[in-house]
Formats: sequence, C-alpha cells, structure tokens
Amino acid sequence: MAEARRYGLGTGNGKGEAERGGGRNSPSAFVSAPASALAPAPVPVPAPAPAPTSVFKRDAPISNAGSKLHEWLRDALVQGLLAKAKEEQEEHERRPNKLWPSGIGRCLRAQYYSYFFPEEFDANKLSIFATGKAIHLYIPEILRAGGVQVKGVECKVSLRHPSREIYIDGRVDIILVNDGKEDVVVEVKSARRLPREPHRQHILQLQCYLNYLKLKRGLILYWDKSAGNIAAYEVAADPSVMGEVWRRCEAVCDCIARQEPPEREGAENEWECLFCEHFFRCHIGEVNRPLAVWLESGIYGGVPIWKGDGQDLDPHPPRPDQKIVERMSRALLEERDVVVLTEADESRRKAAESLLVYSGIPFTVVLARPWRYDPCRWKEKVMTELKKCGAELLP
Ligand code: SF4
Repeated sequence: MAEARRYGLGTGNGKGEAERGGGRNSPSAFVSAPASALAPAPVPVPAPAPAPTSVFKRDAPISNAGSKLHEWLRDALVQGLLAKAKEEQEEHERRPNKLWPSGIGRCLRAQYYSYFFPEEFDANKLSIFATGKAIHLYIPEILRAGGVQVKGVECKVSLRHPSREIYIDGRVDIILVNDGKEDVVVEVKSARRLPREPHRQHILQLQCYLNYLKLKRGLILYWDKSAGNIAAYEVAADPSVMGEVWRRCEAVCDCIARQEPPEREGAENEWECLFCEHFFRCHIGEVNRPLAVWLESGIYGGVPIWKGDGQDLDPHPPRPDQKIVERMSRALLEERDVVVLTEADESRRKAAESLLVYSGIPFTVVLARPWRYDPCRWKEKVMTELKKCGAELLP
C-alpha cells in the first residue's frame, strides 16, 4: 500500500540519499540520511472534525433582487438543496461510537475518515442526492398504486452493541405487508447500473434492520436511474451476520478513539477506491501544490523520468531526464510536493522508491496501484483526483 512518505533532495552525485524527519517546511527538510533508513512516515493524525455547517459549500450569495426568472429559479433550488441537506445533516449527529447501517459494509478506513472529514457537499452533489431521494419517496406511492400495503416509510432503527457503548442508528426505507400477514423490509438503492448480485454492504445494512425489527426476510431493490431497469433480491434474516456487523463497528470505533486509520480495506477489492471521496487523503496524504510526474513511460502514456523505453524499474537506469529532475527539485525547494505516479502495482512500489533514491531523484511520495485494480480505471481516478486538487502534471 502506498504510504505518505517524503524524500528530500539527493546529493546529485547519482547515488541518491533519502531524507526523512524534519517537516517539509523546516530548514532540515532536505538533510540527507542513508537510504537504508527509509521507513514509512507515521500516518498523520487527523485534526478534530470541523463544525458540521462547514460541509456545505455555497458558490455565491443567493439573492433574487434584479435577477432573471431562470436565475431566480436556479438560486432557489440551490438554496433549497443546501437547506434540506443541512436539515438532514443535523439529524445525523456524528459521534465516535455511532455508526449508520448504510456505512457498516464500507471500507473501514473510509468510515474512519468520514468521521473526521465529513464529505463536502456542493450544489452538484446535492442535486444527484436529490434524484436518489426523489426515487426513495416515490417508490412507496408506486407500490401502493400497485396494490401493496405499505406499513411504514423511513422508520427509525436504533441498535446497541451487546456489551459496549456502540450504536447503530438509521432508518428503514419501507416496510411492506406481504399477503396481509408478514412484514417485509425493503431497502431501496438507486444506482447507475444494476449489480449482478446484491452488494455485501447492502446485505449488512438489511440484516441490521431485520435484526432490529425481528423480521424473517427483506428485499434489496435496485433501481437503475439511467436505463430504468429494476432488480430485487430477497435476503433471509441471519442473526449470525450481526457478529460481523458488530466486529466492524468495534474496529472503526476503536480506531477513531486511537486516531489511527484502519487498514485500506477498499484497496483489497477492485472497485471501492475508485468511488471513494477520501482517495487522495488515503493514498497520497496531504500535499501542497503537488507536481505529478510519471515514473515510467508505459502503455498509458505520460512523460517518464527516464529517457527511452523499458528502463522503468531497472536498477541502473542510464539517463534520467535532467530537465524533469530539475523541475522536481525546484518544486521541492519551493516547498511543493512531488507525486511520482507509476502504473506498476504495489508490489513494485518499494523498488520504485529505491530506484529514485539510488538515482538521487527527489520526490515526496510514490503512488502505486493496488494490484487488484484495473490500470486504466486506476489511472483515470488518479488523474481526476490530481486535477481536483489543482496538481501540475508533467508535461
Ligand atoms: S481510498 Fe480506498 S482504501 Fe482508502 S478509504 Fe477510500 S475505499 Fe478505503
């Protein structure tokens, strides 16, 4: 796994030395140390969570004075979305020992980060959420019109750990009555495409509801909002799954209490990091005005540090591109961070770092791909994240 590491400027003699310790901003930041002394930097301790209101970004003050009708409508929608989201967030009070059923199956580290760094919402994200919300609200009406008895909508659920002060709070989307006698929970998921089978995360969520309501079975309903397809999966109550649920809750709460991020669970599957709002923080760390450069010239393009092909991780690269190396050195002297990207997987990251250090090429962090991830999709995600944070990409 890529850890946030910082390596200073080498001596320029072709036998690079690494630095560690001494903050990037301190005069000792570029003092050399033997390459053998390389070790992962401690994972940064997150600052206390910001005040809840800070998670809403407003582009500009909203006023309808003198505006055109369509602007007035747009502004009203933005204001409404922000107000509704704020309302909802106030209902979801964050506590270090409280989790939500919908999050329990998520990567443990993502849950940890979500506690300390709640996602920032802008009007675009809120508008996407609004589409999902609208589907949730409309489905009970559709079911009623279809002749099904809807017993409850958005019903509160609150579970307590059998032996610890850990809570799971949430809301059941819909409770139906089947054949006039059996209550059935329905968890609605609006998606961009239907999954081939229900996601484990959604099963864990449903099991929480079934356990709390003491029901025998429930349904996960996937609603494809792009193509209009629908799929539903029946899930039988399995009390043994609650053991897994509580173990996950314990792991997250204990890490929050210690302020130590859990393992990168999402990097072990082949998709979760691609959709994670904490990607940058998790795989790269906090970086200052990053300069990104490709380690090797691969099949996906990019200007490499080394001239020529096929020399990417060679222990004796003949010709580092001096112009690129100078740009990297200059960036570090300007107290910027240098992110070295590689298409190689994690197993080769250490080799890549050693190669850079050996060659006296300065950098802050090497970002490698978890081996299960498709190189194309990984690269696309990395590029999107780099653009979002305003990184300069060579060339
Ligand atoms: S980027 Fe991946 S490993 Fe990191 S928190 Fe997100 S899902 Fe987990």
